[in-house]
Amino acid sequence: MSFAMAAEQAKALLELELKGAFPDPRGRFGPFGGRYVPETLVPALDRLEEGVRRYLHAPDFQEDFVAELTGWVGRPTPLTQARALSRRWGAEVWLKREDLAHTGAHKINNAVGQALLAKRLGARRIVAETGAGQHGVASAAACARLGLPCVVYMGAVDTERQAPNVGRMKLLGADVVPVTSGDATLRAAIDEALRDWVSDPMGTYYLLGSAVGPHPYPYLVRELQSVIGREARQQMIERAGGLPDAAVACVGGGSNAIGLFHPFMNDPGVELLGVEAGGRGPGLGDNSATLSFGRPGVLQGCYTMLLQDEDGQVQETHSVSAGLDYSGVGPEHSLLMVTGRVRYQQATDEEALEALGECCHAEGILPAIETAHAFAGARRWARDNPGKRILIGLSGRGDKDMPTLQKTLLKGMP
Ligand SMILES: *Cc1c(COP(=O)(O)O)cnc(C)c1O
Repeated sequence: MSFAMAAEQAKALLELELKGAFPDPRGRFGPFGGRYVPETLVPALDRLEEGVRRYLHAPDFQEDFVAELTGWVGRPTPLTQARALSRRWGAEVWLKREDLAHTGAHKINNAVGQALLAKRLGARRIVAETGAGQHGVASAAACARLGLPCVVYMGAVDTERQAPNVGRMKLLGADVVPVTSGDATLRAAIDEALRDWVSDPMGTYYLLGSAVGPHPYPYLVRELQSVIGREARQQMIERAGGLPDAAVACVGGGSNAIGLFHPFMNDPGVELLGVEAGGRGPGLGDNSATLSFGRPGVLQGCYTMLLQDEDGQVQETHSVSAGLDYSGVGPEHSLLMVTGRVRYQQATDEEALEALGECCHAEGILPAIETAHAFAGARRWARDNPGKRILIGLSGRGDKDMPTLQKTLLKGMP
């Protein structure tokens, strides 16, 4: 698939996307997505796909899901009018507060939804992967809540770097297994979780943390996270008096962004803006801006845009935010980029940290460093669109980032 897709082909794909035709029955989002996995994984994925088809939209499953979201996660999360940022940026700024969801970010929506699905499928234990530890914490919490044993695979490098989250997972009852193979970070942790799942596909459920991986995960995660955009859309109409002119979110694997964007897909007046981690700059290995600098390829079961070198070797990435530090991106985002429905740009480490500081001062909210990338992109958009209304997906809170902030923003502060 050539990156420079013919305009007509892109237009036809966009029409299909807006009609809700993706993923198609083969799990594809246009040319992207699908299921590129070893033979041994197929039965487990087939079983999961069947379970998703049977339960996800069934009224009694949805009833249980909504009950957990309301009574335990704390939904609906508020919509906050950002008065000071609005004055500073010369636009009308609104914040969708996923930082106020239980465990501090949007990840819990997906974790509790999939844990409920695992119970329906009769799983006796859950395995999950985690990089920075946020998805591990959300999974451990959801499993404790639903009475499921939980094993979290985490790269050995990350268990060192993210020691406080390892402690949180243990307190929540999870078994944290350090992975020393491969790069000993997120990618190796995903491989290890998949290996575990394959050895017992009936009794074990693999709780994947973003809108990535083989079909049906990108679809499943999108459906569970779309609660963000559905609530935000309704709240904008009720509180702001109408839809936003733009909605913006940060993009790592892409789950909070697709969750925010999806319910606005058929609102042509709402511009959608995804912000990737521009890191130290455009050089290979200096960023995690997959859609800006990547080319299509296969990673962890999925055909999508990837950061790779000339020979197709997947590249190590860099970002000041651990949660955006991944060399792939969800396949639906790859499609939304080529069709042009979503515009993707980047914010560098420095721009994100500056935006984080501004949000703290102006609004009294400490966002996650991941989220701060969305603020940097939103500020740029606001300056280009004076007086317009913008909605920011505030994906999580920044308390977890204190060690990094001590070494960066706070350095030299009296
Ligand atoms: C994990 C995380 C992200 C990135 O993951 P997506 O799947 O791209 O949403 C963004 N923000 C926060 C707060 C996170 O914890």
